[in-house]
Amino acid sequence: MTMRVLVFDDDEATGRLVIRVAKLVGLEASAVTNTADFQHSLVNAPPQIIVLDLQLGPTDGIEQLRFLAERQFNGLLVLISGFDNRVLTTAGTVAENLGLNITATIAKPIAVEALEQVLQRLQRGRQPLTAADLLAAIRENEMCLEFQPIVTRQPKVLRKLEALIRWDHPTLGRVSPNDFMPIAENNREIMDALTDWVIGATVEAYQVLSELDMNVPIAANISTQNLHDLTLPDRLAERLESAGVPAGHLYLEVTETAASQDINRMMDILTRIRLKGMRLAIDDFGTGYSSLRALRQLPFSEIKIDQSFVKDVTTSRDSRAIVKSIVDLAANLEMDCVAEGVETEETAGLLQQLGVHILQGYLIAPPMPIEAVPAWWGIWMPGESDSHRSELSPSPRDDAGVATAASQATVMEPPRTAPPVKKLSQRQLEVMRLLTAGCSIKEIARKLDLSLGTVKVHLSMAYSALGARNRIEAVMRARLAIQELEATSA
Ligand code: C2E
Ligand code: CA
Ligand code: CA
Repeated sequence: MTMRVLVFDDDEATGRLVIRVAKLVGLEASAVTNTADFQHSLVNAPPQIIVLDLQLGPTDGIEQLRFLAERQFNGLLVLISGFDNRVLTTAGTVAENLGLNITATIAKPIAVEALEQVLQRLQRGRQPLTAADLLAAIRENEMCLEFQPIVTRQPKVLRKLEALIRWDHPTLGRVSPNDFMPIAENNREIMDALTDWVIGATVEAYQVLSELDMNVPIAANISTQNLHDLTLPDRLAERLESAGVPAGHLYLEVTETAASQDINRMMDILTRIRLKGMRLAIDDFGTGYSSLRALRQLPFSEIKIDQSFVKDVTTSRDSRAIVKSIVDLAANLEMDCVAEGVETEETAGLLQQLGVHILQGYLIAPPMPIEAVPAWWGIWMPGESDSHRSELSPSPRDDAGVATAASQATVMEPPRTAPPVKKLSQRQLEVMRLLTAGCSIKEIARKLDLSLGTVKVHLSMAYSALGARNRIEAVMRARLAIQELEATSA
């Protein structure tokens, strides 16, 4: 895949220049000169790189940055400007505070060599990802999680959220797990580091939601590569306990592959994970190896039917038969059965008829950043009533396993109104204080000794608590709120 560059400058000559240099270094490029064309291109052919001028005639670059932030543009940005360098630097800070990924700023008139250097660097960033890159990225905290709801529709219940990893690469933008998980699958050290990071971030996300009274279980994916260390169950349990997360609120989704693992050791580890109260789901069921044997022997509480069967359940008689037999199997083994990759009403309807009631897929919601979850939930499930509470308990089989606090804890109600400022946690307040004092996200992370990802999560949660739609509004409201708090405590 060639990376695409989109240039937005009202001056056509700049567009032509950037296109020429981009082609020279092997990138595809196109240029637009007005807002309508810019926004149209973003929707129809999203570029990986945007070169944006700050002076744009009727609009300006800052306005466009805000638009990009609202659309959660994950690619790379190069800013250009004919104003003095201070303007470029300030615009760069604004963009960073909006959560955008500025990779370079270039002063006008554009020096061709400077532009070539920047674009070449971006083009080189496309080199195949290596194991060393991935390990460094995990340690540098370039990973982040998105969360996808898993629900029943009758009654309407949010069962849990699946945590899905992404890599926010400094030059490539957002990289999908399909592009880097194969590296981890082939390297135990990396898979351990990755899972360790995932569990840490999952626990953090759980805490963030529970501060908003959403005690929703989260499912994290682990690999059979992780099932070599007999101390894993203890380490997981300690981590949950010290973070105040009920063990029953962590599901681990295991893909049934990896014939190479020592089956006895795997059974030992999975059984102890289950005994400690965490729950286990078997992922991508139907595609892996020796499914039945694994199922009979291992303490799973849930089967996830692979997307490939769900996708064509409405058109393929074979897929329908497979889904039906998985449903029967799950019922016989007293396991929950989840369909993933549900994209249409037709599919959901047929699954319902076949006896699959727990659904995950774009029809319900795509994976989203943690800060978007409360708002999604409020819309998906308005006016939650007490009658649903009983539906929120885990299945009987889970209860029969190990009794945990989780059995009673899963009562969720959407926040009815935007929580008042006093609901900001101590950390959120600290972060907002520094932000309003003009610190960048990086500086905040350094000062508070937190990772960039954690700072972003605190910020986003603070915004939603403040009822702000973006950073600028949040900073304004936080300033007022902090003044108020300081006045009352003085
Ligand atoms: P998975 O565990 O089967 O996750 C479901 C994948 O399907 C996700 O892709 C999700 O975004 C996608 N998906 C959800 N609903 C729909 C839908 O309606 N239609 C379609 N076409 N796709 C849908 P994603 O996020 O790209 O993850 C791909 C795979 O990478 C995951 O498949 C999982 O095997 C692996 N993975 C992701 N995060 C982690 C992680 O933290 N640890 C490990 N070990 N593996 C992970
Ligand atoms: Ca999964
Ligand atoms: Ca799956």
